[in-house]
Amino acid sequence: MNIIKNIKVPTGNILIVEGDKGNLECLSIGDYGRNENVKAQFLGLNKDVNGVANGECMSLEEKWVVTISTQYGCSSGCKFCDVPKVGKGINATYDDIRNQIETSLLLHPEVGGTKRLNIHYARMGEPSWNPNVLAATRDLHKIVRPHIGNSLIHPIFTTMCPAKNSSLFKILNEWTVDIKNDLYRGDAGLQLSINSTSDCQRDDMFGGSAKSLKEISDIVKDLPEPIGRKYALNFALADSYEVDAKKLRELFDPRKCMVKITPLHMTHSCEENNIKTTGGYKSFVPYKKVERELINEGFDVLIFIPSSDEDEGRITCGNAILSGTLPECEYEIIKDMK
Ligand code: SF4
Repeated sequence: MNIIKNIKVPTGNILIVEGDKGNLECLSIGDYGRNENVKAQFLGLNKDVNGVANGECMSLEEKWVVTISTQYGCSSGCKFCDVPKVGKGINATYDDIRNQIETSLLLHPEVGGTKRLNIHYARMGEPSWNPNVLAATRDLHKIVRPHIGNSLIHPIFTTMCPAKNSSLFKILNEWTVDIKNDLYRGDAGLQLSINSTSDCQRDDMFGGSAKSLKEISDIVKDLPEPIGRKYALNFALADSYEVDAKKLRELFDPRKCMVKITPLHMTHSCEENNIKTTGGYKSFVPYKKVERELINEGFDVLIFIPSSDEDEGRITCGNAILSGTLPECEYEIIKDMK
């Protein structure tokens, strides 16, 4: 796969690559380790995260994160995301998916194996529209073996549950039954973007393009009990957006679902729409009450805070260099074939 642009940011590389139908974007990045930017009492990580200092990532042999695009642009209307600025969502091909993973791994031929390779279908696009995501996930071991041998792979499917996708249950059922529980024996994730427990606020945030909470709850009720990590209900915690723990408990079973909270990432769209998590990058205060209330309702709660290098490096969700942005931290353009 042809690399059109390679931007080196503090925690890895952002690649613009030539796909079968146009340009795609993928990431190869490192991770600080969960002791640095995660609070999750159910995992024994009990320290409040009052901001995360920029630092060194663990070696890629310890953990490697590859994030790829499943579509060229996106047709969802999420107001916090820059990807729709790239164009409408056209599905990436099977080869596009495989090639993005291989191209990311080939950046580091010196790394012959890793204790954990996370593959996130979360750069550009809504993966539930693209059946090639499931087909490629079934083949991931075959795809990565020439590069990192039999390393552990952990694929993660993140969806905002598009209102118009009548096949959503079918796809999520296939992901959970065949892939997460069977093929990967629990070592695969499903994350559902919730963001607010108010359907009115959700309609605003997702531009009316997501299913209602009740519809999502009905889908999750019919999914199997998860093996391994529970299904994650994701909350990008915007100021004044409602997180009603009791309401969430009525809709989602804490034995099946956990809650993951992050600050809203600082995308151009967030700036334009004035959506933010005030103080959320420096202090644990915005998360404290909601964490306590969710735990009281029986949920496992994981709070992930990126460092400024990670957020300004534009490796977090909702960013896309193809939308016309560039990192706002130190970066180096290693290759640029305009
Ligand atoms: S958050 Fe995901 S689904 Fe929403 S517009 Fe961005 S890429 Fe599309």
